[in-house]
Amino acid sequence: MEAETMTRPAVLILLGPPGAGKGTQARMLEERFGLVQLSTGDLLRAAVAAGTDAGQRAKAVMEAGGLVSDEIVLAILKDRLAEPDVAKGVILDGFPRTEGQAAALDDLLESTGQKVNAAVSLEVDDAAMVDRVAGRYTCAACGEGYHDSFKQPAVAGTCDKCGGTEMKRRADDNRETVGSRLAAYHEQTAPLIGYYDARGVLSRVDAMGEIGAIAQSLQDIVAAATR
Ligand code: AMP
Repeated sequence: MEAETMTRPAVLILLGPPGAGKGTQARMLEERFGLVQLSTGDLLRAAVAAGTDAGQRAKAVMEAGGLVSDEIVLAILKDRLAEPDVAKGVILDGFPRTEGQAAALDDLLESTGQKVNAAVSLEVDDAAMVDRVAGRYTCAACGEGYHDSFKQPAVAGTCDKCGGTEMKRRADDNRETVGSRLAAYHEQTAPLIGYYDARGVLSRVDAMGEIGAIAQSLQDIVAAATR
């Protein structure tokens, strides 16, 4: 599908607990609107894998399912936002996660004459998230997502999309850590729903249904917010 034309850089935020489908939906919006998905979780995992100073400081917190400090996350995000490919706009997946991060993002955008166009809260049933997250894995080559119970590739171990044969699982996608991650979401991130509601940019989407229907709701929101 052809990317839709947008007049100014768009900043979209996806809020929701682990397993709500932020990454999946962000990838679909990326294709549709030509935006760049920016996941602070991915950036942090890359920093851990590269053994950078920030990565070494973040590793234990991530393994325990807690939140990495605002200072580290903001530094990583600012570096990424300075790269040229994000000029058309970004879908923030997993950021902001605290009020401090949300306020810092507002300041950062204000300095460049931008603002948050839309924040979407993906609303899900917490109890279902543990099963969703604990069974998920992705193709190491293209990032296509799979699940032990809900979505297996047609040929076991081979990616339907690109034919890759290496699959990977996140170290923190296990039942124990998901509990901590859900708690961190409710304590520190869920208050951002009110933060963006007060600014008039919040939408809520029931994210327990079929992926295509959720994607359609999100596309409508993004199209309206960036018109
Ligand atoms: P995610 O891939 O979004 O599920 O993030 C994986 C882990 O990275 C989280 O459980 C946190 O430990 C850390 N993380 C990702 N994004 C943030 C953020 N914006 N603020 C703090 N910690 C984060």
